[in-house]
Amino acid sequence: MKPMIVVYKTLPADVLAYLNEHVETIVLDPELGASHEALFWALHLALSGADGAIGASVKITPAMLDAAPRLKVLSTISVGIDNFDVDDLTRRGIVLTHTPDVLTESTADTVFALILATARRVVELAEWVKAGRWHGSIGPAQYGVDVHGKTLGIVGLGRIGSALARRAALGFGMRVLYTNRHANEVAERAFGARRVALAQLLAEADFVCLQVPLTPETRGLIGAAELKAMKRSAILINASRGAIVDEAALIDALASGTIAGAGLDVFEREPLSADSPLLSLPNVVALPHIGSATHETRHAMARCAAENLLAALAGALERNVANPEVLTGRTLRSGLRSR
Ligand code: NAP
Repeated sequence: MKPMIVVYKTLPADVLAYLNEHVETIVLDPELGASHEALFWALHLALSGADGAIGASVKITPAMLDAAPRLKVLSTISVGIDNFDVDDLTRRGIVLTHTPDVLTESTADTVFALILATARRVVELAEWVKAGRWHGSIGPAQYGVDVHGKTLGIVGLGRIGSALARRAALGFGMRVLYTNRHANEVAERAFGARRVALAQLLAEADFVCLQVPLTPETRGLIGAAELKAMKRSAILINASRGAIVDEAALIDALASGTIAGAGLDVFEREPLSADSPLLSLPNVVALPHIGSATHETRHAMARCAAENLLAALAGALERNVANPEVLTGRTLRSGLRSR
C-alpha cells in the first residue's frame, strides 16, 4: 500500500504529479487557505490517517500530532521551522524536513530591495508621483540617503545573511558587521564581515538587518532598548520573522524619530491588519511576506520539499533534516527505515 500524504499548500502541477507517482495524496482545498482557521481544522482532521504531510504556514500543534498515530514525516516548504516544536517531533520519532539553500538568493534580493526602497524612499515617492504631486524639480524634502559605502549590520549571518553580505560588500562597497553565536569565517574572509556584540552593531550600523531564525532566544530580540541603541538615522530591516521585533516598540520608535525607517517583510500577526499603525507611517515599507516569492524559487522550494518527503519516507534522506537525531533510529517511528 502506498503511503498517504496530506498536501496543505497548493503545489505546482508537475510537483503534485511527481508525488502522485509514489504516494497517495489528500490535497486540501486551496480555497481553505483564505481562512487560516478552516485550513488548520482541515489539516487537523486529515492528518489522522496520514503517513506524511507537505505544506507551509500552519502551526502544527501537539493535539494534531496526538491525533495522527501514523505520521512519520512533516515536510515544510520553507527554511524557517518555527511552526513546529522540533523537540516534541523528535520525541515522537517524526522527521521534520525543510528547504534551505534554494530560497537563499531570492530572499537576499528581497532584503536588498527593502534596503534600497527605504533608503531612497522608492515607494513613498512613487506614490507621490502617482498622486500628481510632481510639479517641479524635487528638493531636499524628497531626498533619501545613500546605501553604498554605509555600514550594514546583519543579525544572524547564515545562508541568507551571507548572500546579503556578498551583495553589500562586493556590490555596494559597504562595511559589514554581524552577530552570530559562532564566527562565520567564510564570510569574514570573503566579504570582510566583522563579528561584534549586538550593542556595537546597533550603535554603528546604518542598516540593521535581522536574519536570525525565530527561536525562544530570538523572540523579542529587538525591543525598545535595542531600537534606542540604534542611530537616529538608522533603518531597521526585518525579513526573518515578525516576532523577533517588539512591534509596538517599533511603532513608537518610528513615530517618535528614534530610528529613521523600517523595511518589513514579516509581522507579529500575518496578514498585517489594514488598520496597523505601521501602514500610516511614511517611513515604513511593508511587504506581504514575499522573501522567497518568485516563480522560480517557489517552484524550487516545492520540488525540494517533495523530494525531501519521499526520501524521508524511504529512509534515504541525507540533508535538509531539522531533527537528524530521529534518523539515528533511536526514536524512529516504525515504518520508516533508518539509514
Ligand atoms: P541560517 O543559515 O540558519 O542562518 C541563521 C543565522 O542566525 C546563523 O548564522 C546563526 O548563527 C544565527 N543565529 C541563530 N540563532 C541565533 C541567536 N540566538 N543569536 C544570534 N544569532 C543566531 O538560516 P537562513 O537560511 O539564513 O534563514 C534565516 C531565517 O530567515 C529563517 O529561519 C527564516 O525565519 C527567515 N526567512 C524568511 C523568509 C521570508 O520570506 N521573509 C525567507 C526565508 C527565510 P549561529 O548558529 O552561529 O548563532
